[in-house]
Amino acid sequence: MRPNATVKRDGILFVLSGPSGVGKSTVREKLISELGLIYSISATTRAPRAGEKEGIDYEFITTEEFERRVKANEFVEWARVFGRGYGTPKIQLLVQIKKGNDVLLEIDVQGADQIRMLQSSLGVEIYYIFILPPSLEELRRRQQKRGSDSFVEIEKRFQWALVEISHAHEFDFVVVNKNVEETIGVITEFMKAARSA
Ligand code: 5GP
Repeated sequence: MRPNATVKRDGILFVLSGPSGVGKSTVREKLISELGLIYSISATTRAPRAGEKEGIDYEFITTEEFERRVKANEFVEWARVFGRGYGTPKIQLLVQIKKGNDVLLEIDVQGADQIRMLQSSLGVEIYYIFILPPSLEELRRRQQKRGSDSFVEIEKRFQWALVEISHAHEFDFVVVNKNVEETIGVITEFMKAARSA
């Protein structure tokens, strides 16, 4: 327990990763609403999918703007995933943490790796959570069900999923998403424990 609960503390950073199609967005949305987390909206060069909103799901930017932000060191971490750029804006993240808000990043394993390397210089309390599929067959089925991606796109995502899964052991908390409500429940308990640690 923290010595004095009334003393304002910095926020905690939660990093959520897992292969594409594992159900991260559903879990993320529920965690944000139930635990009052701030979601760090990434910038990406990929096109919006049907139903995705600018400034809510992502900040959709051009490749030129992405490269400019990389050079200007405006991302706390960034990566190329499926040939597209993805990055976490630095200033907003640090401002929220300093305000005492707990922030959730939903990023890939390359990004999680960069955050790990920066951890001591960031001076932020960070917990890393990874979501696994119940099986590879089930993951493939879920990726195919998404419908908005082409066959080639789905195959690329599946191959990359295998790489991502091979990094699961680097995370503090790994959960198999058999049932989404149960997954949300166990991650919620983990986050509550982290908050009161
Ligand atoms: P999608 O295109 O399906 O939204 O995301 C593809 C992958 O990029 C997912 O694994 C997602 O977690 C990851 N991603 C989203 N935003 C970021 C980011 O800011 N940084 C990194 N490194 N990965 C991200």
